[in-house]
Amino acid sequence: MRTVTILGATGSIGTSTLDLIEREPDRFRVVALTANCDVVRLAEAARRTNAELAVVADESCLSALAEALAGTATRVAGGMAAVCDAARSGAEWTMSAIVGCAGLGPTLAAIEGGGTVVIANKEPLVSAGEIILAAAKASGATLLPADSEHNAIFQCLAGDRPAGVRRLILTASGGPFRSWSLEQMAGVTPEQAVAHPNWSMGAKISVDSATMMNKGLELIEAARLFPVSGNAIDIVVHPQSAVHSLVEYVDGSMLAQIGPSDMRVPIAHTLAWPDRMATPMAPLDLIKLGRLDFEAPDPVRFPALRLAREALGAGGARPAILNAANEVAVEAFLKRRCGFLEIAAIVADTLEGYDPPAPLDVDAVLAVDGEARRVAAERVKDRVA
Ligand code: NAD
Ligand code: MG
Repeated sequence: MRTVTILGATGSIGTSTLDLIEREPDRFRVVALTANCDVVRLAEAARRTNAELAVVADESCLSALAEALAGTATRVAGGMAAVCDAARSGAEWTMSAIVGCAGLGPTLAAIEGGGTVVIANKEPLVSAGEIILAAAKASGATLLPADSEHNAIFQCLAGDRPAGVRRLILTASGGPFRSWSLEQMAGVTPEQAVAHPNWSMGAKISVDSATMMNKGLELIEAARLFPVSGNAIDIVVHPQSAVHSLVEYVDGSMLAQIGPSDMRVPIAHTLAWPDRMATPMAPLDLIKLGRLDFEAPDPVRFPALRLAREALGAGGARPAILNAANEVAVEAFLKRRCGFLEIAAIVADTLEGYDPPAPLDVDAVLAVDGEARRVAAERVKDRVA
């Protein structure tokens, strides 16, 4: 029996993770489930899985959670400190699937607890990559990537020495506006942006996929997770989302991981690792798929890619500023306070207007994150005015 904790259990990744573990009740036992304030879903999941502990990050939702779980053996708690305590509770396997840099504290807490920590929540890795890696080294925790591209690379790298790797190639679907003109993109609504052609995901990452900032964040994520510099990581648009990423070796070999575009595949890989487990999806039908297309990303319509590459190259506080400004801009777009093309513009403005020294510990990262959010919120106002 493997003990598991899910941070962000009510979201898209959390729900996919629960689906897999509930199919094999003899194999997994749930320690803790956390959510922001989605009491109904959290309580239902805790009841179904007999979770030991259910936690809401938003303390004002605690009484509703206690009521929803009255009469069960599940303990309840509220507040961000309680989420971190749950993360530290020593499950053998923890899914980090909170959205945004809000997941930084809980992810670090899970790493402190040792065990296997699976990273879906990419934003903390972008903002505080070195700190997270150092924490994992100190505690002996094993980090496994759930993001489909990074999981694909992890699978392709199995057993190979880093010296033999020439290049990593991240594939990108191109999102819903891959072939739209700039004029068309200027009028995009939140509803259009969250309707991804290949993947079903939370609102924030869906918008990131549409601007391709998601691929920019993933570029930084890959440079953190794998012993390869940013210059050796390429991005290729692949509209079918069947090839999830590739590794190119010095001898010219290229290995790819191919499969259905369903996050349960990479999550299952991390759940069973180093073994394998079955998933309920139909395997990819290669005959039906017929062809695999690849094209270069368009830097003019998708400036987020350049912004992310520059932030990675410059290092220091730049990735944290990029991420914080993007979180603010995406939220403003979802609330119809700015246009779709303004998301990348707000990120660029924020990077231009704020250039602090490199943050060396978590508190310093959080300070940069907070100030970048303040600057980005001003830039949103400038654009609305
Ligand atoms: P989501 O919005 O569907 O779910 C987010 C979860 O985090 C929910 O359980 C929510 O209650 C919780 N949460 C939100 N704000 C919180 C806060 N301030 N404090 C504590 N908990 C909070 O998001 P998602 O699509 O599941 O994505 C989660 C993470 O995984 C993101 O970082 C995303 O980039 C990454 N990811 C997602 C996918 C995908 O297919 N959805 C794929 C790869 C990576
Ligand atoms: Mg991805």
